[in-house]
Amino acid sequence: MAQYSLFFIQRFKGKVIFNVPMSGYTSLRIGGCADVMAFPQDEGDLKDLLVFAETKNFPYYVLGAGTNLLVRDGGIRGIVINMADGFKDIAWQEEDKAVVGAGVRLAEALAQCRERGMGGIEFAANIPGTVGGAVAMNAGAYGSEMKDVVEGVEVIGRKGHKGFIPKSELNFSYRRAEVPRGAVIARVHMRFEKKSVDEVAERIRAMREKRKATAAITLPNAGSVFKNPEGHIAGRLIEEAGLKGERSGDAQVSEAHANYIVNLGNARAKDVLALMALVRDRVYGTRGIVLEPEIKVVGED
Ligand SMILES: Cc1cc2nc3c(=O)[nH]c(=O)nc-3n(C[C@H](O)[C@H](O)[C@H](O)COP(=O)(O)OP(=O)(O)OC[C@H]3O[C@@H](n4cnc5c(N)ncnc54)[C@H](O)[C@@H]3O)c2cc1C
Repeated sequence: MAQYSLFFIQRFKGKVIFNVPMSGYTSLRIGGCADVMAFPQDEGDLKDLLVFAETKNFPYYVLGAGTNLLVRDGGIRGIVINMADGFKDIAWQEEDKAVVGAGVRLAEALAQCRERGMGGIEFAANIPGTVGGAVAMNAGAYGSEMKDVVEGVEVIGRKGHKGFIPKSELNFSYRRAEVPRGAVIARVHMRFEKKSVDEVAERIRAMREKRKATAAITLPNAGSVFKNPEGHIAGRLIEEAGLKGERSGDAQVSEAHANYIVNLGNARAKDVLALMALVRDRVYGTRGIVLEPEIKVVGED
């Protein structure tokens, strides 16, 4: 760890930890150790960290709240940049426009919108994670997505330079945004729809009602494992293939929602990967449809 130490002692303001089990930082509660985890507190910290990594040729991985991630059992080499600690500011610039820190939880952004009667983000009710992660994933539900409320993002690039990427250049698509390689989203410019406080509250309530089945899943999970193939619902295909309750080690296809894999206690990444392979094979075998993962799989075996 000596190669990292001087930089962190001399320049970095945020917290730094070494040999960190990623199971403590992912909603699936799975994952081997990351060499280093750094929690930048502000833009200066983030910039210094990226320049340090670039100069020393250290790999890095950007982490939000880890709610869409499967980290392999061998962990992550290099630096995990944890964005969920700093970047917690929400600045309302106009009645319907806010600049939101990447580390702000979606739930917090939604709560402020609800109080102000700002709509367009009600779909985020019950989607965990940070605003930065939600943009990177173009998170969405029931026909609405982050792209509907994003005007652009402030990023710090690989070489430490700051930039603004407008929505038109993020090329949002299903669960995807094109953020330049190595760039970290620091803040998100969001514009909402002015509605009444009651209307926003009612739409949030309606969303929560729709999500009752998945909200009731209490075991660790990472949300939908597979994307919905064009014209199909992944959960239904998996259920029709008779896979609800199927297990590999302590990883199980949820009994409540077939597109969720839950950790029954001691699941390892290899169990989840084996179960994902089984699900893909079985759905391909029964329906001839290839399921693509929605969750991000990172790290070493
Ligand atoms: C119970 C449950 C329900 C869910 N329901 C939904 C749903 O309905 N719809 C949906 O779309 N998703 C859903 N998800 C998945 C997940 O919550 C979303 O994808 C969420 O937006 C991920 O945010 P995060 O902060 O946890 O990102 P992480 O999981 O930490 O990271 C996801 C990706 O974003 C990148 N990233 C994170 N932060 C940044 C940043 N600041 N700059 C650049 N890249 C970044 C990471 O490198 C990674 O590639 C659900 C998950 C759970 C556990």
